[in-house]
Amino acid sequence: MPVLVINCGSSSIKYKLYGLGVENLLGGGIIEGVGEERPKHLHAAGDREFEAELEVGDYRHGVASIVKALTGWGSPPLMGDPTEIVGVGHRVVHGGDRFSESVVIDRSVIEEVESLGALAPLHNPANLAGIRAARELLPGAVGVAVFDTAFFSTLSPHAYRYAVPERWWRDFGVRRYGFHGISHRYLAQRAARLLETPRPNLVSLHLGAGASACAIRDGKAVDTSMGMTPLEGLVMGTRSGDIDPAVVFHLMEAGLPASEIRRGLQREGGLLGLSGISSDFRLVAGRARAGDRAAALAVETFVHRVRRYLGAFLVQVAPCDGVIFSGGIGENSHEVRQLILSGLETLGLVVDPARNRGEGERRISADTSSVGILVIPTDEESLIARDTARLVNHRRS
Ligand code: ADP
Repeated sequence: MPVLVINCGSSSIKYKLYGLGVENLLGGGIIEGVGEERPKHLHAAGDREFEAELEVGDYRHGVASIVKALTGWGSPPLMGDPTEIVGVGHRVVHGGDRFSESVVIDRSVIEEVESLGALAPLHNPANLAGIRAARELLPGAVGVAVFDTAFFSTLSPHAYRYAVPERWWRDFGVRRYGFHGISHRYLAQRAARLLETPRPNLVSLHLGAGASACAIRDGKAVDTSMGMTPLEGLVMGTRSGDIDPAVVFHLMEAGLPASEIRRGLQREGGLLGLSGISSDFRLVAGRARAGDRAAALAVETFVHRVRRYLGAFLVQVAPCDGVIFSGGIGENSHEVRQLILSGLETLGLVVDPARNRGEGERRISADTSSVGILVIPTDEESLIARDTARLVNHRRS
């Protein structure tokens, strides 16, 4: 029973097809430049890769091209007939405080996700376009929504409320929601296995182009660095992360329009803003090594902010069983992991340098470390596929 996972971003559609048993990844691909002219469709089936250009660049045509690729590209293609797909799992960024777990999509779910569009204007409309296209093009498949916010439904009010007038919360939904929840949930599940502890206390660090930290106690999220939007918290590729909110009115009073401030914080901040070079960590770190001061400062600020959250979250989950590194930076850069963890031996965090330089999912802490330090490549799609298969099976039984 194949399950298709669709992740509609603000300008791309990523997808993966899983076969019987969701550990069985059959293939997948990406359509880049959705919303622009002639988006590019890259598709992988087995060890073969295919590339095509789309005539029309909207999500509906994107999903139609995915169905065509799954059933027609390759010899043989990944599947014979699209009706074989029993479930389509969609990543939905914002579930507000309405969705605390994955759900089968029906009309009321669509309406609710639509109404949350104001909280995630770049993401929820794109997610919905994918949902609508899949319902039209794969009418026999059960649609499932898996929310990036749902993992944080276990946060206590003292962790999700901001100290602002109560009315802002009631009337405008101003509170912490948290994001990257699918990734943190996946990481927590893998960590439980690696640590052989069913409900561990963890600090999970997802460090990629977007970056967030999550405090997990007894296997449940208790705090996270992202807030009402994915702008709060760590230094990211182009996002500032935490700033004093007074910066915003200082700049407004100095005459900067709101649109420019928003752009500065969301698209021109972070590693890009500090380095003036790039949002790409690898590139910035390379320039830092070559002696560029601004690039070095960008790396130092990134590391400093991660350590700030690591310290805060270690307090919340004490006694901590494990610290997890994930995301493009967290998975791949042994230097960054070393910088983040340096001098923390007295907190029970001892890195083994050889394990730190290794590859793949593993423990990188020394045997003397009282806290397990783990590198876990994240795999949000496999978790979406598992939730989808579970809900499809539940419906059928
Ligand atoms: P996204 O949030 O878009 O999924 P990723 O998790 O793929 O992003 O992370 C992208 C980031 O990971 C980029 O800043 C990239 O430079 C960084 N990265 C990838 N490989 C390495 C590496 N070997 N060393 C340092 N940074 C890396």
